[in-house]
Amino acid sequence: MTEWNNDLARIAIPTPFAVGDVNAFVLKGDVLTLIDTGIKTPESEEAIKAGLKALGLTMRDIEQIIITHHHVDHVGGVDFFPENIPFLGHTNNNPWLENSEQFTGEYVEFFLALAKEMGVPDNYRSLFGRLKNNLKVHSSRVLTGTLKEGDEIPGHPGWTVLETPGHAESHIVLFREEDGAMFGGDLLLAKVSPNPLIEPPMEEGQSRPKSQLLLNQSLRKIAGLPLGVVYAGHGNPITDPKPLIAKRLQSQHERAMRVYGYLKQQPTTVFEMTKILFPKKYENQFGLTLSETLGQFDYLMDSGLIFGEETPDGTIYHTKQ
Ligand SMILES: [Zn+2]
Repeated sequence: MTEWNNDLARIAIPTPFAVGDVNAFVLKGDVLTLIDTGIKTPESEEAIKAGLKALGLTMRDIEQIIITHHHVDHVGGVDFFPENIPFLGHTNNNPWLENSEQFTGEYVEFFLALAKEMGVPDNYRSLFGRLKNNLKVHSSRVLTGTLKEGDEIPGHPGWTVLETPGHAESHIVLFREEDGAMFGGDLLLAKVSPNPLIEPPMEEGQSRPKSQLLLNQSLRKIAGLPLGVVYAGHGNPITDPKPLIAKRLQSQHERAMRVYGYLKQQPTTVFEMTKILFPKKYENQFGLTLSETLGQFDYLMDSGLIFGEETPDGTIYHTKQ
């Protein structure tokens, strides 16, 4: 049921993904802003229309769109809305939205090099090719302006932008100190922990962002705020976010320690560990399971519990310290 809750409203929009519905939010202020858009499918468009109608609005009433990150379920629906309105997000959304040939090329090259490092056998390389699908945001627009740490949301005094990379390098949340309300994107979800997805560095030559470590940092960052309700990108609003943040950090630590336990004395690659951790899922969810495992290795490495040794062909074997 879509209804106003003071100055904001949630519209749940179906997706074809395992995660289920994605949430878009309407925020009233000096302008009427939509936060995230759903995916670009006819079902999604219907759901947005119906949601807006229940609020006494139409697509044409939306005056500004802000995205929490570049993933297709949060961005694709931007094409449904008037073309001339501001479309804002973090500058790191741009490579994905622009989707240039150069970016695609660098993206594929990055993953092939990383596949080698993670010990992915050559016969699995075709699965890696599917990762290119991640690049399809299915919308035709690029940002008309960017938002960065500390910015006030245009048209919404009291709402500020916080950079919260990890699930995506482009990820931001929107926070209102007055009542602690937050539009949290996929940083904190009621039912699942977001995947620390592998992404290439934003600048060529930079080292790979350690997504899990960034995600943990971002969670700690919001835990230090006077948080009220977190309006999450999927699922119901989170009314008591702090215990959930603590739980997420703790269970990630426990998952990493499980990996540590498996490592024993046997040097192991990220790919070998992925097969151990996700024997039934790793082939169908290749990218997701590898990024999850890589995140645990990054965490253990950062904690000084393991170290990596590179073979002459560039594969890294991890061992307990
Ligand atoms: Zn996402």
